[in-house]
Amino acid sequence: MMATYEYLCSHCGCFDVKLTIGTAPKSYGCPTCTNPARRLYSAPGLSLTSSASAALHEREEQAREAPAVVSEVPPRTRPKRRPHPALSRLPRP
Ligand SMILES: [Zn+2]
Repeated sequence: MMATYEYLCSHCGCFDVKLTIGTAPKSYGCPTCTNPARRLYSAPGLSLTSSASAALHEREEQAREAPAVVSEVPPRTRPKRRPHPALSRLPRP
């Protein structure tokens, strides 16, 4: 099982590393400058989410790099608004 661990390089900032759960070292070589980066203990990006939300998350991540292009605006399917039921109970002039 894989988990995403976050590391903070003092030169380059944060980066993510995907590792097997339980194998994340306290420091990890920065992919940019190869200096040891400190592990951040934030909310872990565990792959234990439901497949539906994982798929949604995957699609959201993909949309940053390669958003799905549509050729037309989605059809307008707004439901007809009915007047609020309390309006009929108001006194009429
Ligand atoms: Zn770095």
